[in-house]
Amino acid sequence: MSAVEEIPPQPVPDEDSIAFWQATANGRLEVCRCQQCRRWLQPPLERCPGCWGETAFEPVAGTGNVHSFIVVHQPAIPGYRDKLPYTVALLELDEQAGLRLPGRLVGVEPEDVTVGQRVTAELEELPGGDFTVAVFRPV
Ligand SMILES: [Zn+2]
Repeated sequence: MSAVEEIPPQPVPDEDSIAFWQATANGRLEVCRCQQCRRWLQPPLERCPGCWGETAFEPVAGTGNVHSFIVVHQPAIPGYRDKLPYTVALLELDEQAGLRLPGRLVGVEPEDVTVGQRVTAELEELPGGDFTVAVFRPV
């Protein structure tokens, strides 16, 4: 009997998200931003819905707070069985009200997570592939 490594589903970058994945692979968390009115856009868009300006990815500080969260108790995604139970949160970044990214919380037990809790982003290799994902740690 041999242990089989579980591989989580891998991201499938498209033309709107490829720059995000290239940035995380290079150790940076970046978010799409309008180059005209400077509004941050998540999910990324080719054009700003506010002013129709062109967009590009720019670095963010990675700091923010927990907007909402769930606690995962069942191994719904391969590769995370050993982390159960874990928390997946929607994080509101400091750069702009309403600018939210999803991410797993690390370094905290699910029962200690609260809405409004301050967090900072870290980058973590996704098992089984060439991708790096953002996780968030309470500060
Ligand atoms: Zn704009």
